[in-house]
Amino acid sequence: MHCDVIICGAGTAGLSAAIYCGRYGLRPLVLEKVFAGGQAAGTPHIENYPGAPDISGFELTQRIQAQAERFGAELLTAEVTGYDLAGCPKKIFCGDMSYEAGAVILAVGAHPRQLGLPNEAALIGHGVSYCAECDGFFYRGKTVCVVGGGDTAVQDALYLSALCEKVYLIHRREGFRAQAVSLTRLTERENVELVLNARVTELVADGNLTGVRVASTLPGGENGDRLLAAAGIFVAIGTEPNTADLAEHVALSVSGHIPVDRLMRTDVPGVFAAGDVVEKDLRQVVTAAADGALAAFAAHRYLEELR
Ligand code: NAP
Repeated sequence: MHCDVIICGAGTAGLSAAIYCGRYGLRPLVLEKVFAGGQAAGTPHIENYPGAPDISGFELTQRIQAQAERFGAELLTAEVTGYDLAGCPKKIFCGDMSYEAGAVILAVGAHPRQLGLPNEAALIGHGVSYCAECDGFFYRGKTVCVVGGGDTAVQDALYLSALCEKVYLIHRREGFRAQAVSLTRLTERENVELVLNARVTELVADGNLTGVRVASTLPGGENGDRLLAAAGIFVAIGTEPNTADLAEHVALSVSGHIPVDRLMRTDVPGVFAAGDVVEKDLRQVVTAAADGALAAFAAHRYLEELR
């Protein structure tokens, strides 16, 4: 199958790119392995997207998807299994199927970073979660921990404090990366306890999580160790880019992100990147949307020049 632009990933960046491609008169094919919406779809409340002062990530991304489809984007649920990006046309492989296009936009996003504890993976679904919006409901009336000091951790703790009896927010230092407005709101919640200068050392379980052991990160272990009784732990310690299978195809930074120029161009002509997978300083829904728009603009210009 041949189309003008293949967009890998249907998060905010990919869908925004699809809207702009459609409006430029290009036929975009959007490939997504799970479901449209990406990481933003799992964000309980988004308050900083211009024009939508209080909206769930799910609703916002559903709207962006509908808008992309209105402008002619074709969305396909398919996992990308291979790339041939060097020549023209570019080829994307999904199992037995292959798709060709003049340009490709990589909007493959990122996945949650893990704590790296031995039983962490085995406890997924038994107390360990990386998505408060998806799993919070199962912990109604219980005590849970959230780990991290960024926007995700603080937003998750806020969301869970409305559902759970108690929320411990565990962070490895005192300063937070999260925006001050959410942090202030969090400190006003009576059922939230901040456990600062602490790191998780053990997930205590009897098949299901029963507790979280934390140790001090201060010099000399000043805070001492604590065992926090908890039925759930929500890990929100940042993300890692989904680029494991891209290393042979485009240049990656040390952190595995894709470096791009101001027009979202990668080091391969005709290949653009957008959203959380890109090397950048501010990962927000609004910057993902802007990346997508720019990538579509640049892909359109590239295809015009080819013709
Ligand atoms: P983040 O901003 O990278 O924060 C990750 C947090 O986890 C940091 O506080 C970091 O601690 C901590 N951390 C990292 N590795 C750790 C480890 N191995 N053990 C313990 N703690 C660890 O990640 P994020 O909160 O997921 O946010 C990602 C991006 O999405 C950000 O740009 C954020 O602004 C954006 N976002 C925005 C919204 C919103 O605006 N509504 C919501 C969610 C996310 P240190 O601070 O000590 O490094």
